[in-house]
Amino acid sequence: MAFTNEQLERYSRHIILKEVGSRGQKKLLNSSVLIIGAGGLGAPAAMYLAAAGVGTIGIADADEVDLSNLQRQIIHATKDIGKPKVESARETMEAMNPDVTVKTYHTFVTSDNILELIKDYDFIIDGTDNFLAKFLINDACVMAKKPFSHAGIIRFKGQLMTYVPGEGPCYRCVFKNPPPKDAVPTCKQAGVIGAMGGVIGSLQAMEAVKYILGVGDLLTGYLLTFDAITMEFRKIKLPSGEKHLHPEITELIDYEQTECEGI
Ligand SMILES: [Zn+2]
Repeated sequence: MAFTNEQLERYSRHIILKEVGSRGQKKLLNSSVLIIGAGGLGAPAAMYLAAAGVGTIGIADADEVDLSNLQRQIIHATKDIGKPKVESARETMEAMNPDVTVKTYHTFVTSDNILELIKDYDFIIDGTDNFLAKFLINDACVMAKKPFSHAGIIRFKGQLMTYVPGEGPCYRCVFKNPPPKDAVPTCKQAGVIGAMGGVIGSLQAMEAVKYILGVGDLLTGYLLTFDAITMEFRKIKLPSGEKHLHPEITELIDYEQTECEGI
């Protein structure tokens, strides 16, 4: 596949990087990433992946755009209120980069459909906002041997980690089980500063791009936390993580919807 002149110009700042080059850009164009949740995390992740020329981007979300989303979910605009988030996200990504094929899944991700959804993708981004969804995505990715980026944001804090099969602990290794219902506030109850989604969601896009390129160190075996009040990033080494094969993860547990979907 040869680049068109337009592609050479569009991706020139990538191609000039020795870690990317023409070869890396072609890898990106031939790759696929599924984003689950078109909210505060999924919005910037989707936009940077589309801009980077990730050839196929899937986006799954059951919600419609609400006015209260627009403080942070920058892929959606005021004119999109009431529209399915996946449609609004698709329009923004396609307008940004015609090289990208966007596949939309206007559905709740459940134990019934998640394995089918993730099976054709190279990398998964968890942009959901509730623990039960996060455990479902984790367990499905462990079962299907799919790499994924976990992230969570609330108030002025964010965190993320990356799971690569056979290379480090998964989300369940670290957090064991979902906390009891109502033990942890949702973003609707607790709030979240808008740019936090941009910081952490962009880092998720960065992990996906680095995974596809095979460049640098991923957050595999580490949890990265960010506190916007103190402006401190901490990279916390997670225990062991050599052989997290999880024979005990053999079935998927469904999650309940919380009041505030897709942060
Ligand atoms: Zn694990």
